[in-house]
Amino acid sequence: MTLAISYDDVASAARRLEGVAHCTPVLTSQTVNERTGAQVFFKAENLQRMGAFKFRGAYNAVSQLSRDQRAQGVLAFSSGNHAQAMALSARLLGVPSVILMPKDAPAAKVAATRAYQAGIQGSEVVLFDRYTEDREALSHRLAQERGLTLIPPYDHPHVMAGQGTAAKELIEQVATMPGGGALDALLVCVGGGGLISGCAVAAKHLLPQIQVWGVEPEAGNDTQRSLAEGRIVHIDTPKTIADGAQTQHSGQLTFPVIQALVSGIVTVSDEQLVRAMRLFAERLKVVVEPTGALGAAALLERVAGLPDLRGRRVGVILSGGNVDVARFASLLAQTAD
Ligand SMILES: *Cc1c(COP(=O)(O)O)cnc(C)c1O
Repeated sequence: MTLAISYDDVASAARRLEGVAHCTPVLTSQTVNERTGAQVFFKAENLQRMGAFKFRGAYNAVSQLSRDQRAQGVLAFSSGNHAQAMALSARLLGVPSVILMPKDAPAAKVAATRAYQAGIQGSEVVLFDRYTEDREALSHRLAQERGLTLIPPYDHPHVMAGQGTAAKELIEQVATMPGGGALDALLVCVGGGGLISGCAVAAKHLLPQIQVWGVEPEAGNDTQRSLAEGRIVHIDTPKTIADGAQTQHSGQLTFPVIQALVSGIVTVSDEQLVRAMRLFAERLKVVVEPTGALGAAALLERVAGLPDLRGRRVGVILSGGNVDVARFASLLAQTAD
């Protein structure tokens, strides 16, 4: 079966993103290396524009729309990072964006999304009641009435290819770093699978020997179960602090890539996530949101299912840093060392 994207798609995405997305730093920590016995390289996508890797995929998708599609505008539904990524990408390209968000989304997120839309006529945040209104039906109606192009958060080839540029960049950066070289393993968090599918395509092309491992929250292990059953398993919206990975199922396009290229999926608990977030704050001086800490938590806690990575070079994607500071403080306060 042919996969939805190839390495060429990732390489083209990287060219489109050049000078637009940040080439985010790669962070290392002696404490982390000692604790894990591995040489660990963190790709700091928490420092990406709008605070998460999602900018890569959104910009790559919006920039490939036809002139007509751009004139009409784009539509996205999300209460999280995809909303802000779409609003910012569209504005940079002069494209109107309509973002559908639940009425009970945090006010700060709605405000941030509106701020990214500033100055583009026709851009707006449309609020809906997620308990009484059908989001799919509403978005189809909006798309039809206004001629908008819907860009989904993960199940789209241009989104997947854009996300893959994070791994391409990391592998190229590590190759020339002190103590660097070819990565042996890459740990990537998994929601709907856009990030890991793009990253796996890039990583396996550049380093055929590399093992790519996915990490899900314990409560939301739909992709792990899907791999075990060989079909896309649907679950109820999981209860976890990792809000970027509260997806109910992986995508029609992302899942076959995961099946073909990913070595396996492991899970971590919310408590393990908070311990990792604390370590990033204390030792590396960076804010990582709960979902962004999935890969690191799996490595630091040596969770079941992960191979022995001692003595190996391990890349970890820190996927995002968008967490309300008051919430961040209260999460860290709840868990002592
Ligand atoms: C969206 C998101 C994820 C999950 O990405 P998928 O492409 O849906 O697997 C992980 N971390 C952060 C910070 C996100 O915003």
